[in-house]
Amino acid sequence: RLISADANSSREEAMERALRPKALQEYVGQAKAREQLEIFIGAARKRQEALDHVLLFGPPGLGKTTLSHIVATELGVNLRQTSGPVLEKPRDLAALLTNLERNDVLFIDEIHRLSPVVEEILYPALEDYQIDIMIGEGPAARSIKLDLQPFTLVGATTRAGMLTNPLRDRFGIVARLEFYSPEELALIVSRSAGLLAVPIDPDASLEVAKRSRGTPRIANRLLRRIRDYADVKGTGRITLDMAQKALTLLDVDPVGFDVMDRKLLEAVLHRFDGGPVGLDNVAASIGEERDTIEDVIEPYLIQQGFLQRTPRGRIATAAAYRHFGLMPPQAKAT
Ligand code: ADP
Repeated sequence: RLISADANSSREEAMERALRPKALQEYVGQAKAREQLEIFIGAARKRQEALDHVLLFGPPGLGKTTLSHIVATELGVNLRQTSGPVLEKPRDLAALLTNLERNDVLFIDEIHRLSPVVEEILYPALEDYQIDIMIGEGPAARSIKLDLQPFTLVGATTRAGMLTNPLRDRFGIVARLEFYSPEELALIVSRSAGLLAVPIDPDASLEVAKRSRGTPRIANRLLRRIRDYADVKGTGRITLDMAQKALTLLDVDPVGFDVMDRKLLEAVLHRFDGGPVGLDNVAASIGEERDTIEDVIEPYLIQQGFLQRTPRGRIATAAAYRHFGLMPPQAKAT
């Protein structure tokens, strides 16, 4: 390992913040989500109303947090940020809601992990800008209604399917973030390199882009590690050759699969005969959490056509066989 991820996680977070685009114009890709938001934000601003509640879903690192900040900036309002697991009690959420100013944005990351009692007080807040809170205890306890300022909830989740129906129904704008194309990621890499004052050749940017699993967060992380490599092994300039050598050292293969991607595919191919194999068996076999497999590892493998999710389990595709130099089953039969 060139650099361990944990030792640097706070530096990495600081870098992430520094590299975050601030305006919709700077936000690369996601044409559909961007266009939708541009129109609705424009309309809300014109009427000086709160924007409809927004649900952003998609795998980690695709720009949900970034987009929520941009929404607040474009609306010219404050953003308050929290996450599902952090809001343990109804009063945690009530405190946040009652402190919002007119038309502010409340960003709740991992919104699928809200506890049911917290979710309960969110419904009237979203619908009528009102909350019911309990005061007092025991027989003297009573509930009172509080009016809130109009506000916009931006919720982020890795999978829209994990939200309860009543919660999902309360979002007027639902945007699914997609994996980025290599060309889009190359733009992001060049932009980040510019901000970090790292000289990088265009073909090197594209190489990093192709090996970043369609994900800006990964592209930015790889860039930082390749910069270290180029500083130590070269003159600091990231050339194609430098990028390729660093990526090999980082265990990222030419199609961009990392150690976990290969581990999962190889398990399905070798231990389960190409599948179908259930998620629990895959998880036990590679020693990884179910959620991590479903939210982080699988989406890219599926999008790239190496893995299929079927009702009977996961199946390796012909492309997966070929990637590991094996003969696909149909070819074997003929
Ligand atoms: P998520 O909330 O979906 O996990 P983030 O919004 O934290 O992802 O994005 C991770 C990093 O990727 C950010 O630091 C940001 O710099 C970069 N990023 C994400 N989306 C874009 C984009 N569309 N254009 C440029 N950079 C992006």
